[in-house]
Amino acid sequence: MSIKSAYIHIPFCVKICTYCDFNKYFIQNQPVDEYLDCLIKEMYFDSPQTLNTMFVGGGTPTALNMNQLEKLLKAIQRQFNILGEYTFEANPDELTEEKIKLLKAYGVNRLSMGVQTFDESLLKILGRTHESKDIYRAVAYAKKYDIPSISLDLMYHLPTQTIEQFDSSLDEALSLDIDHISSYGLILEPQTQFYNLYRKGKLVLPSDTLGADMYHLLMDKMKSSSMHQYEISNFAKEGHESEHNKVYWRNESYYGFGAGASGYLNGCRYTNVKPVNHYIKHITNNQKPVLEKTYPSLDEKMEEEMFLGLRMNQGVNKKTFYQKYHRHLDTLYQNEIHQLMKKGWIINTPEYIALSDEGRIVGNEVFEAFIKL
Ligand code: SF4
Repeated sequence: MSIKSAYIHIPFCVKICTYCDFNKYFIQNQPVDEYLDCLIKEMYFDSPQTLNTMFVGGGTPTALNMNQLEKLLKAIQRQFNILGEYTFEANPDELTEEKIKLLKAYGVNRLSMGVQTFDESLLKILGRTHESKDIYRAVAYAKKYDIPSISLDLMYHLPTQTIEQFDSSLDEALSLDIDHISSYGLILEPQTQFYNLYRKGKLVLPSDTLGADMYHLLMDKMKSSSMHQYEISNFAKEGHESEHNKVYWRNESYYGFGAGASGYLNGCRYTNVKPVNHYIKHITNNQKPVLEKTYPSLDEKMEEEMFLGLRMNQGVNKKTFYQKYHRHLDTLYQNEIHQLMKKGWIINTPEYIALSDEGRIVGNEVFEAFIKL
C-alpha cells in the first residue's frame, strides 16, 4: 500500500499546560537546532514522497523561531510533494504576522489553533500563554494572508467551568467565521499537574452530568451553525473536514517523524523514542529512532477499524470492511449489532454502521462492544 500521509512532531512548548500529557518539553535550554537537524535526517532516511496530507504538530511548532521554522519548512518542501491538506498546529500568541506569512509562502493551507477557551480565568487555570485578544489577532492575520482553512480547538468539562462559559466560548468561535472546530472534554491524564491536584483534592471538576450537558450543547449549537458534525468531536464547513485526521479514523497508513511520533506502515504500528536526547542519539548513530513496534493481528485490525471508523458520522462502510478483511461485518458482529440497535445507539443500513446521536454520547461503551479480546 502506498503511504499518503505524514505526521511530524515538534516536542517543544514555551510553557507547559496544566492538563497536558503529550510528549513535550519546556523549550528553554533544549537542543532545538540539533533536534531539527535530526528530524530532517529522519525524514530523509526514505526517498522523496508525494503525499496527500501532512500534519505538523506537537508540542507547538510555532514555538520555533523564524530561522528554525524556515529550516523545517524548506526541508519538508524538499522531501515531500504535498498535494492536499498541509496543517500546522499553532498557539494563538505565537502566531505572529511574519510566521503566518512564512507558513503561507511554503504552502501551509490549514492552521489548527490551540484556543481551548475564550474565558481569561479558564485560560489561566489551563496554564495557557495566550489571552483571548491573541485569538482574534491570530485569526485576523490568518484571514489577511488567505490561509484557506482555519480550525480552533475548544475544551469543555474544565475545572470551575460553567455551561454559560462554554456557551460563550462557542459563540465567540462561531462569530470569527472560521472553518472547523474540534471540541474535546477534559480527560485527567496521569503525570499532569491537574492529575496531581485532583489526587490531593485540590481540583474540582464539573459533574459528569454537566459534562454531558456541555456535549449536548455543543452538538445542538453546531447544528444551527454553518458547520456540520462529521466526527464525535469535530465540526466543519463544507469542504473543510480534516483529511489528515480521517486517515487515522479510516485506519490507513501514515509516516510518523520526530520524538514520540507514531506511524503505521505496512501493517506495523510504531512509536519513536520520546526523550529528545534519546531521539538525537539514535539519529546521530544513523539508527531508526523506534521505541516499539507492534503488528496488529487480523482480529485487532478489525476492532481498530470499528472503533476508529465509528467515530465518524459516516461510520464504517460494510463493502470497504469486506474488501480490507474478507469478513462480512454483519455476520462477524451479529450479536453486538443486535444489542446496540436495541439500545438505539447505532444506525445499521445495508451500506454502513454508524453511531446514532444517543450513541455519540456513550461512544466509549459502543466501541467497547466491538473489542473482543
Ligand atoms: S501548548 Fe499544547 S503541547 Fe504544549 S503544553 Fe500546552 S497543550 Fe501541551
